[in-house]
Amino acid sequence: MFRAILIEKNADGYHAALRSLEPARLPDCDVRVRVEYSSLNYKDALAITGRGPVVRSFPMVPGIDLAGVVTESGHPDYRAGDRVVLNGWGVGESHWGGLAQMAAVRGDWLVPLPAAFTTRQAMAIGTAGYTAMLCVMALERHGISPASGDVVVTGASGGVGGVAVSLLSRLGYRVVAVTGRPEEESYLRSLGAAEIVDRDSLSHPGRPLERARWAGAVDVVGGQILASVCAAMQYRGVVTACGLAGGMAFPATVAPFILRGVTLVGVDSVMCPRAERVEAWRRLAQDLNPTELETMTQEIALSDVIPAARDLLEGRIRGRIVVAL
Ligand code: NAP
Repeated sequence: MFRAILIEKNADGYHAALRSLEPARLPDCDVRVRVEYSSLNYKDALAITGRGPVVRSFPMVPGIDLAGVVTESGHPDYRAGDRVVLNGWGVGESHWGGLAQMAAVRGDWLVPLPAAFTTRQAMAIGTAGYTAMLCVMALERHGISPASGDVVVTGASGGVGGVAVSLLSRLGYRVVAVTGRPEEESYLRSLGAAEIVDRDSLSHPGRPLERARWAGAVDVVGGQILASVCAAMQYRGVVTACGLAGGMAFPATVAPFILRGVTLVGVDSVMCPRAERVEAWRRLAQDLNPTELETMTQEIALSDVIPAARDLLEGRIRGRIVVAL
């Protein structure tokens, strides 16, 4: 038997609970992994609480990421004992995921864990941190360097935001952190933020073009905040958009794009091609400060996951939550 969070939907409604399951219930896949750590991401919290349409089939084990050790493999690239990490590919949405002591997954979805990381560190980073790295790589790909000017990070007290602040400041960028939690100023400065901006100042519709402030942006919030960020970009600035913590809407004008040549880059971690994933994990091993990662991280047990999911959606969690299996 193995322990897992199981989400069921039936006549009584939508229900997530900690359960003991038979290994025979795992999906038919070429690799089995003993999960050592998973993590709690925004999407997991939506899945567990039922507040967002994340789960595509029931019953479902949530958990969009995992790190652990291969126990059985029919895949040519993996053998028992290999340390691996998995992010996305629909795991925890349409395929049983990482919030479980065992997982059966496709070998093609796995990335070998960089030697620099323990499985706990890999999940302290998790999908949030890997996505932050994808955003940094997209800024670089579009020509933004520390000499270009300031980079703004929204939702900075959350998971993606915290890792983005830490990575960018380590790479030499001057980082402006946007937060709705002024009490987290010293935490954000400890991660390398040079300036803190109150979320409220970007939460209301403004002019199509505002004062040009930022060369780059990592936005996890969407909605009016993303529109306000676009309006305040410098000439040829680059905005990476990866989240919707503030909403799906995009109430913007075309002015920043056609008058300042701003680029809006969408970042998706779920179906991101394998080569880019491997590069993102290599860069995380090279560029992320492990002490700052630990500052951002709190560890919980599988039995704490359901209440923690509610806390995360209420904005009561700072940084990253790693789940010990
Ligand atoms: P998180 O830890 O909950 O962080 C989200 C942060 O956004 C919060 O800490 C808060 O920061 C801010 N926020 C929350 N509600 C808000 C609101 N109503 N208005 C404005 N700001 C708000 O979540 P996460 O794991 O970092 O994920 C962030 C977003 O990125 C989510 O939408 C998630 O789905 C998305 N994401 C996308 C991908 C992808 O592949 N595209 C991958 C990972 C995550 P402050 O308190 O500091 O303001």
